[in-house]
Amino acid sequence: MERGGWMTRRKPRPEGMGAPPGVRDYSGSLMVMLTHACPLRCAYCGVVRDRRAMGWETLRRSVDFLLTSRSDLLQLRYFGGEPLLEFDLIRRAIGYAAGRPARAGRPVHHMITTNGLGLDDRKLEFLAGRDVEVMFSLDGSAETHRRWRAAPQGQDTHPKLLASLRRLQRSGVSYFVNFVVQPGGAVRSRSDLELVVSWGARRIQVGYCVGVEWGEGEKQEFLGFMEETARRYGNADHQPASKMRAGMELLNLKSRAEPVMLSDEVIVETDGALYLDPAVFVERFFPSLKAAMGLGRLGEVGSLAEVRRSRAEVLRLFRGCCPPGTPQGRLFLNNLALGLDVGGLMDRLGRRTTRDTR
Ligand code: SF4
Repeated sequence: MERGGWMTRRKPRPEGMGAPPGVRDYSGSLMVMLTHACPLRCAYCGVVRDRRAMGWETLRRSVDFLLTSRSDLLQLRYFGGEPLLEFDLIRRAIGYAAGRPARAGRPVHHMITTNGLGLDDRKLEFLAGRDVEVMFSLDGSAETHRRWRAAPQGQDTHPKLLASLRRLQRSGVSYFVNFVVQPGGAVRSRSDLELVVSWGARRIQVGYCVGVEWGEGEKQEFLGFMEETARRYGNADHQPASKMRAGMELLNLKSRAEPVMLSDEVIVETDGALYLDPAVFVERFFPSLKAAMGLGRLGEVGSLAEVRRSRAEVLRLFRGCCPPGTPQGRLFLNNLALGLDVGGLMDRLGRRTTRDTR
């Protein structure tokens, strides 16, 4: 399952809260892996898919674990697999978090990632009006989805997906689209992204495949695509309104999420074990990470602050598992370099936007 960052919140998090400039602050954020099951078989999925799912008791303890954070802004992020398969758990967690005294008046924001297929009216009715945001995966045309986000028997899921998007738009629930680009796919992505915009999406996060090598030419092509997208949809150059799509927002410009390979977020596995994010989200490509990036278990560690690690530490652990010179090490460094370049580009363009719009 793809990832999103703090920038998705309605109320923007003040920059620099407890973190040095240029470093995201996840001190009040916790991811939960609700299930490893998913009805899709995306070619770029880095999660190990099977039938493991979280029980209520583990999720309840995850909420309490999040509340050990002293941050003023708290966020619980539901991942999978497909987390909507466990919607009753999400419903219970939202209610439970709202009633906990440890919340001490602080808002708990809930972010749900989804492939969109299970987003029906019943779920949206519950989510509407709550502090919830949906990260909706959509890579463009039916053909692109058939190729990269296929269903096991090759069923055409695209009409269902677009129907879900329309329902989501009608519901008023806050959402953004997560759009993923493949190596060598930047040219096609231009028209795919146009389609996504034509379907009404206004807040978009662009991601890229990890776990595969990006050639230098593919990387440059992708960076060109990102720059063009930032100019077109993210107002990177503060263009006149006539040249911009109304209300468009390219979330990458302010997320500071790169390089995603060094994500230092904490995630609770279905069995209550705690890990650094990459151990779960790229497990299929880097299976040795899980042994190195374990942070203990719910109930054994006192607080979220206790298990947090710096990005430098994530890098050290990655290099220990995937030493330079090995195939895994080369793959890691390749993906890391792409993330650093994308991050540098977004910082540059994002800074320009901020300056120009003051
Ligand atoms: S929808 Fe997400 S979890 Fe499911 S296969 Fe695709 S990337 Fe993996």
